[in-house]
Amino acid sequence: MEHDRLFIGGGWAAPHSTARIPVISPTSEQPLGSVPDADEADVNSAVSAARAAFDDPGGWAHWEPARRAEALNRFADALETRSGRIARQVTAQSGMPITISESVEGRTPAFLLRHAAGLITREPLERVQERADSTGSTLIRHDPVGVVGAIAPWNFPQSLAAFKYASALAAGCTVVLKPSPETVLDSVLLADAAMEAGLPAGVMNIVYGGAEAGSALVAHRDVDKIGFTGSTAVGRLIAENCARLLRPVTLELGGKSAGVVLDDVDVGAVVNSPAFSAMTMFNSGQTCWASTRILAPRSRYAEIVEAMASMMDGLVVGDPFDPGTQVGPMVSEKHRTRVENHIRGGAAEGARLVTGGGRPRHMDKGWFVEPTLFADVDNASAIAQEEIFGPVLCVIPYEDDADAVRLANDSSYGLSGSVWTGDTDRGIAVARRVRTGVFSVNGKRTDLGAPFGGEKNSGLGRELGTEGLASYQRLQSIFM
Ligand code: NAD
Repeated sequence: MEHDRLFIGGGWAAPHSTARIPVISPTSEQPLGSVPDADEADVNSAVSAARAAFDDPGGWAHWEPARRAEALNRFADALETRSGRIARQVTAQSGMPITISESVEGRTPAFLLRHAAGLITREPLERVQERADSTGSTLIRHDPVGVVGAIAPWNFPQSLAAFKYASALAAGCTVVLKPSPETVLDSVLLADAAMEAGLPAGVMNIVYGGAEAGSALVAHRDVDKIGFTGSTAVGRLIAENCARLLRPVTLELGGKSAGVVLDDVDVGAVVNSPAFSAMTMFNSGQTCWASTRILAPRSRYAEIVEAMASMMDGLVVGDPFDPGTQVGPMVSEKHRTRVENHIRGGAAEGARLVTGGGRPRHMDKGWFVEPTLFADVDNASAIAQEEIFGPVLCVIPYEDDADAVRLANDSSYGLSGSVWTGDTDRGIAVARRVRTGVFSVNGKRTDLGAPFGGEKNSGLGRELGTEGLASYQRLQSIFM
């Protein structure tokens, strides 16, 4: 797909920049298409359109919530009619197995738009409360925060963009979305859907670009809030810029979450369950919340390592368009090199390579990495502390539940985690003691209506649910 426009001010606008972003298939290594690579002037145009739409006295920000909700539901309808094409485009660009693209990327944005539309019509935007000193009353108002700069990564390009724009639009904000350069083609379909839904001009804008466009958006004086998902390194840079500008920012960053297997489980049943492989290896390991550090009780350590090796060896690696494929390629050649460097580093640090470690022999093209398992890993080693973002797991022994909690918390990250047990209450007791933003008991995955986000190097703030919506609102107290 060759595309020569940016989505600005409600239509396709010719870019100022003459540079292009080529998109390469990670499976065939062949070009898939290209889009304009927005420069600062293009970002300025998009922000101006969003600013004008936000400042319109009778515009989007001032519509009754029910009217905005209707528009969001139309946007969801328009996305749903394109869900198959969106899923295929995501798989083509990123190598995401098609079953995941269809179930997550094809569905989540519409779900989130409908959910946010429901929240904005249900949650009161104003309330009157008695003054604390009982001498009158105060009106407390929730207004939209303003123009939002939304910056998304490549690993779930549609869903993670929607984590931001669904809440922001529902709150009455206007949005400039910058997708990741690796996955820009699917956002052409997103723009088509926004147009078909009849969102007013400038309410939703999309600029393709990389770090230059992203930095211009973060620093723009007419942007009121930044919502970012991506790496910790870039998130820290954005936080520094937002701190200087005193600009609110939500950061969803990296993770290195623990999967705690308690000693009461049926190891074979747990490790071979679809929930366990999804929690550890979803999207070929390119998932921020994946449990990639498996903590195994010493009493059952050998049994767990053996079951995991057989689970990893059984995963189907191949063409991501084949519905039977469980592990596709890494998103880019550069990213595969990064994953392979981590694998080499793990072996050099003395971890025991149980299975994998190379490239699958049956794939002669594409940026594939074999599902790789390390055992006897020291939790202090780089392979246990650094995010790899590929199909690589490590198994670390622990002594008792308290030791497992200590190891789970011994990480600079704090995004997610999981516990596997025959006793849900025991699992919840472990979950309560782990300092992460989300946690799963026995493979229950993310609830799209609950706050989502991380602690420590995993980020700041929360997306989704009422708390996510609130992050796109500003508060005003009027003393009466
Ligand atoms: P990345 O940080 O390289 O890029 C993310 C986005 O930021 C891209 O759109 C990129 O173009 C843009 N960007 C790059 N430099 C910028 C700058 N200086 N200023 C503004 N924008 C800039 O991350 P990635 O490689 O696309 O994504 C993978 C990372 O995302 C992993 O670390 C993963 O853990 C993280 N992630 C986190 C979550 C979460 O919810 N916590 C979810 C998915 C992915």
